[in-house]
Amino acid sequence: MEKDTICVQSGWKPANGQPRLMPIVQSTTFKYDSSEQMGRLFDLEDSGYFYTRLQNPTNDMAAQKICELEGGYAAMLTSSGQAANYYAVFNICEAGDHVVMSSTVYGGTFNLLTCTMKKMGIECTVVDPDAPQEELEKAFQKNTKCVFAETIANPALVVLDIEKFANLAHMHCCPLIVDNTFATPINCNPINWGADIVTHSTTKYMDGHGAAVGGCIVDSGNFDWAAYPDRYPGLCTPDQSYHGIIYTEKFGKGAYITKATSQLMRDLGSIQAPMHAFLLNLGLETLALRMERHCSNALKAAQYLKGHEKVAWVEYPGLPDNRYYELAQKYMPKGTCGVIAFGLKDGRAAAGEMMDKLKLAVIATHVADSKTCMLHPASHTHRQMSDEQLVEAGVAPDLIRLSVGIENPNDIIADLEQAIG
Ligand SMILES: *Cc1c(COP(=O)(O)O)cnc(C)c1O
Repeated sequence: MEKDTICVQSGWKPANGQPRLMPIVQSTTFKYDSSEQMGRLFDLEDSGYFYTRLQNPTNDMAAQKICELEGGYAAMLTSSGQAANYYAVFNICEAGDHVVMSSTVYGGTFNLLTCTMKKMGIECTVVDPDAPQEELEKAFQKNTKCVFAETIANPALVVLDIEKFANLAHMHCCPLIVDNTFATPINCNPINWGADIVTHSTTKYMDGHGAAVGGCIVDSGNFDWAAYPDRYPGLCTPDQSYHGIIYTEKFGKGAYITKATSQLMRDLGSIQAPMHAFLLNLGLETLALRMERHCSNALKAAQYLKGHEKVAWVEYPGLPDNRYYELAQKYMPKGTCGVIAFGLKDGRAAAGEMMDKLKLAVIATHVADSKTCMLHPASHTHRQMSDEQLVEAGVAPDLIRLSVGIENPNDIIADLEQAIG
């Protein structure tokens, strides 16, 4: 099936007489007839639901749809995009391990890897994703267990050379984890270019309406953990908390997601509420349609800003003169995303003034939903970063992030016009 059909048809497949719309299994627990069967579930000998902290059918149906859209092998939902990125890394890293991460990742991910996970004993080396191969090679250590980057960085709009990063990771016996939130699987499938694991903040375009925080991890099933048993002991040696099962032996290509579900979800519990998974699924039904509109609106808005005398610069990978245009054409020929970054000639102060005049666009921490909104990262989301860190992350102090919605493009441009003046 084509992606727009998967968006509508995949996941829940009703049998005769069942509801057409995916039901919400609003239950923490599931009943069984025999004590033995319940025991087998806890031993991972049988598959089945027993407690919603680990798994819930509604979540799994929405995850299945995302898995198909990404061309993955298995997927799981998490309570947020942050939880997805945390689990994706922590599932294969422990104290003493090391991660190579692109400097331009989302601020929350930057904090997670460089501050919080550091406290857990996992070190992170930050690299410029555009650095030459030799430079990037230097970041790797014997204990490097994964490489982490974003397809289109939020908010710097740096486009990742996915193939280059996948090759680099694989040369060092590591999987590449790509946060594909901004491109969405409609515009890019990182797995097709060699990425091993894909994460999402479903809070953004997938939900699409700013209704529910959520995340997702998709595993391609392609990385051969069993080839490196010493590097990935969590997947390749007995798990004492499950009577010594070995995930790679028992679950093959499903090892990674099974471990994340049955071990990390069990112990850390960042499950998505089934109600949120229901809302996510509704959002997914229109994802392909909405992305088309987000991208065409954003291109029009970017072209308008580009021609405005008070605008100093515009960053949008869909613009032919953008430094990432070629990469964007290669990885995202149908379009990139609805987010634009720009700066005003009068700089930081002018940004605040202009934003206060907006009528249609709202000032919001959010990005990537149906309603046009704007944010000034240096004063809002990234305010904990030093100027140096901001520049390293590709976030100029005057950068304004415009998330173009699916309203009529003329109304969006008219609002920009009256606000910029
Ligand atoms: C928003 C975002 C996250 C974090 O997701 P939450 O759902 O807010 O926890 C991670 N990565 C990217 C690229 C994001 O835009």
